[in-house]
Amino acid sequence: TPLVGVLALQGDVREHQAMLERSGARTLAVRRPTELAEVDGIVIPGGESTTMSKLARTFEILDPLREAVHGGGLPAFGTCAGMIMLAEHIEGGVTGQETVGGIDVVVRRNAFGRQVDSFEADLDVAGFDAKFHAMFIRAPWVEKVGQSVEVVARVAGVRGGVRPEAVGRIVAVRQGSLLATSFHPEITGDHRIHGLFVDMVRAAREQSSKRK
Ligand code: GLN
Repeated sequence: TPLVGVLALQGDVREHQAMLERSGARTLAVRRPTELAEVDGIVIPGGESTTMSKLARTFEILDPLREAVHGGGLPAFGTCAGMIMLAEHIEGGVTGQETVGGIDVVVRRNAFGRQVDSFEADLDVAGFDAKFHAMFIRAPWVEKVGQSVEVVARVAGVRGGVRPEAVGRIVAVRQGSLLATSFHPEITGDHRIHGLFVDMVRAAREQSSKRK
């Protein structure tokens, strides 16, 4: 059984752990480099990305995260602010905002605008049979994707009406063993996205044990 960490600096740590456990993983709340070294994959929750990177610096886990993701090939899944943390490029960030990086995308912070801080949408997610009900909270969107990035979901319409600027926006991406969503899949009771990530973690583990 894979052990999946949840970065526990901010956000819905317990909710992520519950969804991962329902997907068949063991979990660990991760705050220290020694804890990070134990896990087979890491979830970076939502929250506020500038605060999260500052906390990650303070807890001396930002560089270990970068090394694990870039050098070590550690599978990672970022939601909302976590998506921003995994992006190579940020629009609307603050000067000097540090990230982990890894996914070759341009992500725009708070992209859906102030008036609609939060909204819900039913998404077609690549590989899923039925729509995924997604909750967006001051969410970013993906503005540009590099060649090796797979688009996993886009907004088709929004409940209670179609907001023109939201339609067609990329809200879930994957690059190798890195996954990111603009929305919060930990709060809707549907654990399919976490299941997808746990599958990615299992696949990465098999790969590395074959190499050994
Ligand atoms: N707007 C936040 C940021 O820029 C992200 C919001 C969230 O994670 N729910 O970090």
